[in-house]
Amino acid sequence: MRQIAIYGKGGIGKSTTTQNTVGALAEAGKKIMVVGCDPKADSTRLLLHGLCQKTVLDTLRDEGDDIDLDDILKPGYLGTMCVESGGPEPGVGCAGRGIITSINMLESLGAYTPELDYVFYDVLGDVVCGGFAMPIREGKAEEIYIVASGELMALYAANNIAKGIQKYANNGKVRLGGIICNSRKVDKEYELLKAFAEEIGSQLIYFVPRDNLVQRAEINKKTVVDFDPESGQADEYRALAQAIDRNKLFVIPKPMTQDRLEEIMMEHGFMDA
Ligand code: ADP
Ligand code: SF4
Ligand code: MG
Repeated sequence: MRQIAIYGKGGIGKSTTTQNTVGALAEAGKKIMVVGCDPKADSTRLLLHGLCQKTVLDTLRDEGDDIDLDDILKPGYLGTMCVESGGPEPGVGCAGRGIITSINMLESLGAYTPELDYVFYDVLGDVVCGGFAMPIREGKAEEIYIVASGELMALYAANNIAKGIQKYANNGKVRLGGIICNSRKVDKEYELLKAFAEEIGSQLIYFVPRDNLVQRAEINKKTVVDFDPESGQADEYRALAQAIDRNKLFVIPKPMTQDRLEEIMMEHGFMDA
């Protein structure tokens, strides 16, 4: 079983990219569980064709510890198993610890069955506090992908996340599997992301084009592979899923200084600085 965590700046497309990749892997016959680790609880909406009605933390609050797996684990698109960790009451408690409470609950209820090929954790991105590093810190997810684009703030967040990964990788098994570019149509974005990924010792594992079909599918509460399986964008997500499935390059990232990051942006990102 490969346990994969997806990190990246808020709004960059983690939940969309994760669910489309999962949809494509499910099409290819893989058994997958998706664990939403964002208090927004929108990591499984496209797979479930609507928002998850009950998060793990809500269920624990309402019903106590005596809960059944079916209360929190819902079957979605092509049998993908979906769960949302949820969050603490706003302003109270640590969201990161809530994630670990949820994962522990899933473990004790037997959600991690041997048939699973993959578990995906869709994690909040800009926060690299101890709480949100939990899935990697506790050794739950050992394989990380960072979603980024050619925008400075997305790369800034990606570099910070790489710092967090490096810290835990040095005394554990967690590794960076690659950078996924979710395009924002920035000038020379492919070259920039490739240079960024190589600078931190990793790879640009896939370049996902921007396409309004993603939004159209989203309004219909579906992934693109589900909503329009014949489309070019569905094939992009299938190719990303294959790239992850075949990936062999797992590294301890070497994050860069802010100056170097800006240098790379000037060298590769802009046609005319
Ligand atoms: P995150 O989980 O990182 O906060 P989301 O997955 O919720 O981000 O994506 C934010 C928005 O960007 C969504 O409304 C989604 O439809 C849109 N989006 C994501 N990827 C693409 C893409 N490749 N093309 C067009 N829109 C996209
Ligand atoms: Fe929030 Fe992170 Fe602090 Fe937990 S560790 S309370 S998630 S900032
Ligand atoms: Mg999200």
